[in-house]
Amino acid sequence: MFDTIEQAHLNELHVTQDTATQLRAFIAIHNTRLGPALGGCRFIPYENETKALHDAIRLAQGMSYKAALAGLPLGGGKAVILHPKNLIDRTALLRKFGEFIESLGGRYITSVDSGTSPMDMDIVAHTTSYVTATSHRNKDPSPNTALGVFNGIKCAVSHQLQEDNLHNITICIQGLGHVGSILAMLLKKAGAKLIISDINPNRTKKIAKLYDAQIVAPEEIHKIPCDVFAPCAYGNIINETTVSELKCSIVAGAANNPVVSTAITSALHETGILYAPDYVINAGGLIMVGMEKLGYSAADIERKTLAIADTLESIFKCSQQTQESTDMIANAIAEKILYEKTTTTATVSHNYCIGMEANHLATGLRHQIPPTANRFLM
Ligand code: NAD
Repeated sequence: MFDTIEQAHLNELHVTQDTATQLRAFIAIHNTRLGPALGGCRFIPYENETKALHDAIRLAQGMSYKAALAGLPLGGGKAVILHPKNLIDRTALLRKFGEFIESLGGRYITSVDSGTSPMDMDIVAHTTSYVTATSHRNKDPSPNTALGVFNGIKCAVSHQLQEDNLHNITICIQGLGHVGSILAMLLKKAGAKLIISDINPNRTKKIAKLYDAQIVAPEEIHKIPCDVFAPCAYGNIINETTVSELKCSIVAGAANNPVVSTAITSALHETGILYAPDYVINAGGLIMVGMEKLGYSAADIERKTLAIADTLESIFKCSQQTQESTDMIANAIAEKILYEKTTTTATVSHNYCIGMEANHLATGLRHQIPPTANRFLM
């Protein structure tokens, strides 16, 4: 366990157990250098405690990198509640979980994740104020995620294909859920030609009719010749088998971890496919949830969401200059922001690009904390 903590540069790990409510949970706080650690709470069955702990640590690190590259005054954290075999009282367990969060004094703010809902966050809110995504807020972050992805795609098309607009650009969307369906609408409005796929045929039929899109089978979508492949379903879609089947120029979508490993992102880079790193392009949801919680205005949130494209452009240019893959560049920039000393081998030659990115962030909202945020930033 300590090796994992060291490798991930994890700042804090909190563990709790309460027999009366069956609560057994981890809160991993990866880094609070930029602000309180925000990240969802997973409440799903795990094979064992070790896997749950590793998930919490890995996901907390991912949240730190995402917040850092989005220029947010937030750190990265994640909670995992181990799902009891026979859960007796969900409400009592979640209230106790709220007390656990409260005991950390605001260093961790929770949110929804796999296995938790806005209604669960309402219950957690009875015992802590360090919670977001409650049902009262009634705001789905997905449209903001879709907006960030849309602008990221435009940026990638401009960089890779030297096209200023999406007219006649062919885009394959895999997954038409909360994000994919809104992305389809934005892309269609911008003049793109859409090819779509979902394992739910009702969704494909509806979107095809609305946006004049061509439907293909789920197992075919990544093989279709196109300009942009936009994975908006689930992870690990680009792996040892599928990477050689891609016939696109760009991979840019909302899905978390669409590429199985850094070896495969390097393979994408070597074959000339431009990859928009997932945690950079899909940060719109975090930007909305986090900035709302910290008291920023809707205009600030929109500005920050549109800045995702500027960050991507810096990464793409840096990748072109250094011939390192885009995810290596993104990680190096995040580590520079989080640790102020670089920790990947890719970074030494990236000083020029990192300087560019650091300047971009310094002029952003990171240092303009609204008064309502103060109590989270003690
Ligand atoms: P969702 O569950 O609403 O939609 C996913 C869609 O993918 C569903 O319609 C599902 O039927 C479809 N799907 C599943 N497997 C498929 C396959 N093999 N082929 C084609 N379609 C398939 O999820 P979402 O909220 O739209 O999020 C999509 C992705 O973006 C996820 O990876 C999520 O983690 C990531 N993401 C979402 C947000 C957000 O704000 N919702 C923010 C950041 C990242």
